[in-house]
Amino acid sequence: MNRVLLLGGTGDALQIARQLGTRHVYSLAGLGRMPEGLACEVRVGGFGGSEGLARYIEREGIALVIDATHPYAAQMSANAAAACRETNVPCWALRRAGWSPQTGDDWRMVDGWDALVDAIRPFRRVLFTSGREPLAHLDDIPAHQFWIVRCLDAHRGNERARIIDARGPFDIDGERALFALNRIDVLVTKHSGGSATQAKLEVARELKVPVVMMRRPSLPEVDREFDSPAQLLRALNEEEGSAER
Ligand code: NAP
Repeated sequence: MNRVLLLGGTGDALQIARQLGTRHVYSLAGLGRMPEGLACEVRVGGFGGSEGLARYIEREGIALVIDATHPYAAQMSANAAAACRETNVPCWALRRAGWSPQTGDDWRMVDGWDALVDAIRPFRRVLFTSGREPLAHLDDIPAHQFWIVRCLDAHRGNERARIIDARGPFDIDGERALFALNRIDVLVTKHSGGSATQAKLEVARELKVPVVMMRRPSLPEVDREFDSPAQLLRALNEEEGSAER
């Protein structure tokens, strides 16, 4: 396989990046930690939209783009598909399945911030595990609510919001303690799928705490889709045969 550009920023993408040889590139937006010990090249920062990405693909001689970004990184996924179309380079995507509700779950699906605010209105102690978005709304917290926002940000919070700057994976005992200590009566989450952040759903089920879940954005069509890093790596190996990646 000629030069691969892997778009990452997720644990799944890192698993793939660890298997890539020196001529391939792992790309990160630059929000999280820099991975260590990778053989492949690591680049950080935006490309400048789909146009910028298309120029990058041409300039760097990229022969395959793999979109392994988070399912909610819809802009990057759209840019990747558009740039691949323009440059006639195949685009593969890792599209992790969402979680499946189980008996006892009370999931309330919402689209967008306004619907989310409506859905949590009946509750008092809200645990947000859906990224940084709530930080922009800390001045609008209704008088009857207290928010606990777990995200990658060292924000100081305010008198009605506590910010927990923490990175997964999170285990079940830790999640039980978090719910109990903060007397959580509603959980807000993205429909991310995967095991790293699943424990909170088990605790919500145990405690009969409703879950307000943000629906996934729609993602572009790509040439091939995979639902696990292992499946994608197998396909890469098949492309490459026994040659060095
Ligand atoms: P986004 O809204 O789809 O992307 C915004 C812009 O960030 C893109 O247009 C692109 O800038 C740049 N970008 C995103 N991913 C990039 C990558 N892998 N390499 C280079 N540039 C990238 O994405 P987001 O939701 O802000 O997520 C940013 C990163 O965090 C992604 O890598 C994603 O995998 C990771 N992440 C996101 C979430 C989430 O819930 N959204 C959760 C966990 C991890 P240009 O247009 O300038 O190229």
